[in-house]
Amino acid sequence: MNVLSIPPVIRRFARYFTDAGYSLYIVGGAVRDHLLGLKSEDYDFTTDALPEQVMHLFKHVIPTGIEHGTVTVHFEKQSFEVTTFRSESDYLDGRHPSSVTFIPSLEEDLKRRDFTINAFAADCKDGRIIDLHDGKTDLKNRTIRAIGDPRQRFAEDALRILRAARIAAKLNFVIDKQTLSAMGMLKDNLSKVSAERIREELFKLVLSDHPARGLSYLREQGILTVMLPEFKGADGLYQGGMHHEDVLSHSISACQASVACTSTLEVRLAALLHDIGKSEVVVASEGRNTFIGHELAGEMISQSLLKRLKASNTLIKDVSHLVRHHMFDYQSTWSDSAVRRFIARAGLQYIPQLLQLRIADQIAIHGTANTVLLDELKQRIEAILEEHDALSIKDLAVNGNDLMDLGIPKGEKIGATLAYLLETVLDDPGQNNREQLLNLAEKYHCLAVFTN
Ligand code: ATP
Ligand code: MG
Repeated sequence: MNVLSIPPVIRRFARYFTDAGYSLYIVGGAVRDHLLGLKSEDYDFTTDALPEQVMHLFKHVIPTGIEHGTVTVHFEKQSFEVTTFRSESDYLDGRHPSSVTFIPSLEEDLKRRDFTINAFAADCKDGRIIDLHDGKTDLKNRTIRAIGDPRQRFAEDALRILRAARIAAKLNFVIDKQTLSAMGMLKDNLSKVSAERIREELFKLVLSDHPARGLSYLREQGILTVMLPEFKGADGLYQGGMHHEDVLSHSISACQASVACTSTLEVRLAALLHDIGKSEVVVASEGRNTFIGHELAGEMISQSLLKRLKASNTLIKDVSHLVRHHMFDYQSTWSDSAVRRFIARAGLQYIPQLLQLRIADQIAIHGTANTVLLDELKQRIEAILEEHDALSIKDLAVNGNDLMDLGIPKGEKIGATLAYLLETVLDDPGQNNREQLLNLAEKYHCLAVFTN
């Protein structure tokens, strides 16, 4: 496998470079993944053409990272990132090279890359694979090894510490011993790396097939709690009862178990974070620990952790909501109104994800999930949905304006009255008609005025 078969569109793309006297190579993950027999759609290119020269070759080019020599070319409805060969010198701040020099040498360009298995290049002309750092041997041994002196490479850019763990998690590879210990030694440099870059690697790790491998490497080297100090209290926190692992090990196991249930980022993250509130509320009792209210503490911690990583507001909302509601305790004895209350509380759109999270949690604890009760809950929810009963305030037969017409003042009072009406209707869907609800609202309001 010394030749990469170059897709026709890339051959046509490369022709523009070669016709103008430049070279073009596919580099990085795409070549590595090809050699592993994996599919890769994310092609990174490198060339000896300067960015301005690439911009002259094509009609639609965006200077996406021009200061690092990267432009994005739109070609035949696809986007290709092309970076000019470069060498980097003197990382003064441990995250940005203090200068980027464009060079005419592929060899120098491959030297600045992070790991031997990420330093292959495939010539787009004929697909010939160039391997100047013996990446093939490391691929064969399923090993991630820094190019050159690992300590120096991690000191230059501490993000590489996370990249090693993330790629180990993606490929189920081991990290070479020296590379691993250098990761631990330089972990504090991660504080120099921007939240966005850390977030991207962490999320890719969590979305990989083997997150436990990457997370365990990070834990073992003390990196995990540098990156996510919120886990400090979970590390070694004894649980007892049905739990055979401490809270941090269980969190890692649940994240791993979630791989079998989902490929969505919110559930994978919720699986990792669902018990993060336990250290805040732990109480020792009769030879075990109890953690009453940990889901509420966990909701707050997840919010601030994800905010610090500059995650999107939607992701923060979804993950913290799942963490908050992960402790539901469905039993066959639940009445229909209890099921309706559960839907109203948890939110209909979150229920499939809460079930996935529960399965991951159970697999982490017991090795398997008993889904009999969860399937029953699902069926009962489906039956309730078929009845089209009100499950949220917007499903009520009256709205805020109707209540204002009754003389109930705008704001908090309207909110409290609507919440009361929903409670009533969740108990007895038969009450969801306008006349009855207006009647109830009036009585509730009078009583509230009287008791205040
Ligand atoms: P994936 O398949 O997940 O995209 P990748 O190895 O292609 O993995 P990218 O982030 O797309 O990862 O980076 C492309 C290439 O750029 C890497 O293979 C590596 O050669 C180089 N690279 C990326 N980040 C760094 C870094 N921080 N330091 C050195 N080289 C890097
Ligand atoms: Mg890539």
